[in-house]
Amino acid sequence: MTGRTRRDAVYASALPVWPDLDARIAAAADAYRACRLCPRDCGVDRTQGPRGAFCRLGTEAFVYKELLSVGEEAAVSPTMLVDLGGCSLRCLFCSEWEHVVAPRRSPAVPLDPAWLARQMRRRRQQGARSVTFVGGEPIVNLLAVLRALAAVAPGDRLPVVWNTNGQASAAALALLGGVVTTWNVDLKFGNPRCAERLAGVHGFDAQAEVARVLAFALRDGAVDPATGLPRAIVRHLVMPGHGACCTRPALAWLADTFPGACLNLMTGYLPLGPAAGGHLRAAELGRRASAREVAEAVDTAAAAWRRAVWIDGVPRA
Ligand code: SF4
Repeated sequence: MTGRTRRDAVYASALPVWPDLDARIAAAADAYRACRLCPRDCGVDRTQGPRGAFCRLGTEAFVYKELLSVGEEAAVSPTMLVDLGGCSLRCLFCSEWEHVVAPRRSPAVPLDPAWLARQMRRRRQQGARSVTFVGGEPIVNLLAVLRALAAVAPGDRLPVVWNTNGQASAAALALLGGVVTTWNVDLKFGNPRCAERLAGVHGFDAQAEVARVLAFALRDGAVDPATGLPRAIVRHLVMPGHGACCTRPALAWLADTFPGACLNLMTGYLPLGPAAGGHLRAAELGRRASAREVAEAVDTAAAAWRRAVWIDGVPRA
């Protein structure tokens, strides 16, 4: 049996359990009354609407895109990709900027549990091996996602991949533990100055937040035995001009601190969002990374990493 077919056999026999969903939903609704689910720590009552919430969200989530994707990491593809508006960061190079700052922006529609249930059945039949919640940022949409998952018939469930910026409180993690199979976490910066200048990180340590999420994801080992999926994938986007300040220190830290995680080095940076328009705080990000910068990043990853290294989602040969 090849590795691929062995994994398929494991996958086919494993339906996610998602324990205590009703209790999690009740606890999440309670947490929304003074929301501190991410380090923005707004403390506002989101059940009364989005006023005062950094993420600009009340209790509803808004889906602006859904597709069966083969472009995610090989281990979780094909995946049912669900893009949700709103985020806790403001990365000036964000490809989804318009939906981050305006979660209701067309063509977004409220996340309907009955729709998610139907779509998950359809995507499973089409060959999806996971469902990925992304955006934007799924943590700021946690309650609506849990409510939607509760509508999915047990036989239609797919393992949940949580594609996150890694900014999540302990309370948010507790609500998701046992529901999320794979934490796919962005490690964007290698120092606080770049995090502040390029993503608006004030008053908290973005890397320490990522560390909390990875420690949680890997608390019971690197692989989920029921599905064979990795419990933690770390994505690092190679940004132009950020080799010395971000890529090298970030990967060195990751290799030292979380050697059990899988690394996906993403080399296809495109100047999008405000960076595409020459934003003054992101002037160096108005171009693609050079071939030399990409090659240096690949070498850095290969040297630092003893576990799986993927380049743009594909295992490195
Ligand atoms: S999820 Fe984060 S940004 Fe949104 S209201 Fe809660 S603490 Fe604020």
